[in-house]
Amino acid sequence: MSFDTLGLMPELLRAVREQGYEHPTPIQVQAIPLVLEGRDLMGRAQTGTGKTAGFTLPMLQRLAHHANTSASPARHPIRALILTPTRELAMQVEESVRTYGKYIPLRSTTIFGGVNINPQTKALRAGVEILVATPGRLLDHQGQGNLNFSQLEVLVLDEADRMLDMGFIRDIQKILALLPTSRQTLLFSATFTDEIKQLASKFLKAPASVQI
Ligand code: AMP
Repeated sequence: MSFDTLGLMPELLRAVREQGYEHPTPIQVQAIPLVLEGRDLMGRAQTGTGKTAGFTLPMLQRLAHHANTSASPARHPIRALILTPTRELAMQVEESVRTYGKYIPLRSTTIFGGVNINPQTKALRAGVEILVATPGRLLDHQGQGNLNFSQLEVLVLDEADRMLDMGFIRDIQKILALLPTSRQTLLFSATFTDEIKQLASKFLKAPASVQI
């Protein structure tokens, strides 16, 4: 199986090639076409399976259609939100977004706790299409009026089981209440427990399911 058959645009294939990836991983083969179609998705996959590229590549392609090179912050509303349980994962995912998106004019940043909030606020005010966040710090920024999700198109819940284990369920529910309901939602989790299935049934629409 080759990356060329998955329907990805040349800008993304070029970035993938530069990473030295020769073949898509099984989760990528399954997830990429479904996400490109606009489907909601539940993915059962652990770290190390290539799941990050599995959701990042098609998400970037969907956002690329209205990418905007204007400098004005107002022209760069948040269009995708990726929630992660930890600062380390948030940084890693944002790095992937930058790597795979290097030939697409979309801006990204990451916000997480344990560090000064002011540089994050500055980055948000400059305008970003893709926001990678941990739940608590996202709500801090929301409280300070730094966030507007009215243009949100895609939500990714990455390592959802870990977010629940870490007690983020209330924060996640508060965040979901801030988002437009007409959006694409992708949920990744190492396990599909009853709790995860409940979360999915509440916040995903007719999701496709992929697992490896
Ligand atoms: P992830 O499971 O998303 O954390 O990815 C695990 C590692 O696999 C990362 O270091 C990626 O750079 C790498 N990776 C992702 N997709 C591929 C691929 N198709 N071929 C080779 N390596 C990959």
